Amino acid sequence: MGGTFDPIHHGHLVAASEVATEFDLDEVIFVPTGQPWMKTGPGHRAVTPAEHRYLMTVIATASNPSFTVSRVDIDRGGVTYTIDTLRDIRRLRPDADLFFITGADAVAQIIEWKDVDELWSLAHFVAVSRPGHDLTVSGLPASEVSLLEVPALAISSTDCRSRVGRGSPVWYLVPDGVVQYISKHHLYRASEPVMNHTT
Ligand code: ATP
Ligand code: MG
Repeated sequence: MGGTFDPIHHGHLVAASEVATEFDLDEVIFVPTGQPWMKTGPGHRAVTPAEHRYLMTVIATASNPSFTVSRVDIDRGGVTYTIDTLRDIRRLRPDADLFFITGADAVAQIIEWKDVDELWSLAHFVAVSRPGHDLTVSGLPASEVSLLEVPALAISSTDCRSRVGRGSPVWYLVPDGVVQYISKHHLYRASEPVMNHTT
């Protein structure tokens, strides 16, 4: 499962868990992006440094024995394309049947992805439902993409970041350790915390 994970939240974790159960997967590899190509260029906010996103993903998945985190996209550097992610994971797991997990919003964009035809030979795609997005595969080969309804969690990283920015809680939207990591490293604050000076 690729993602920016800025930050990882319970929507990601439920999606991964449901797909793992439904498709009887041995392992779910979370792959935080380097610089995501769709979030690059003018008009896009800077993505949080990769090491923070990687560590939050490790914290969020640490308690599940079948969840792991891969650094392939981070260590490759530069802009991340899913085709490169899949080629790298294929090299690391030459005998595995690979599945790529995406949300309904991301799957709608697959046709715009780099080397789309080769994608189908590397992995089977599973698109999960996401509140606010239609779960369809129009334009994509139905044999290559499965659709799965998962419990609807209207959580997005964008909303988590803006909640932190305005001082609202993200408890129960992201795992407890991620709440604490965000606070410890002052992530997503519009500015440094305001100190109360009484002098
Ligand atoms: P952002 O708002 O920054 O884009 P996001 O919440 O969409 O963050 P991503 O890291 O962009 O999170 O998503 C990684 C993958 O997880 C994508 O395939 C996305 O569709 C899927 N996903 C994210 N949130 C949910 C959710 N609540 N339910 C189902 N799938 C989700
Ligand atoms: Mg997104």
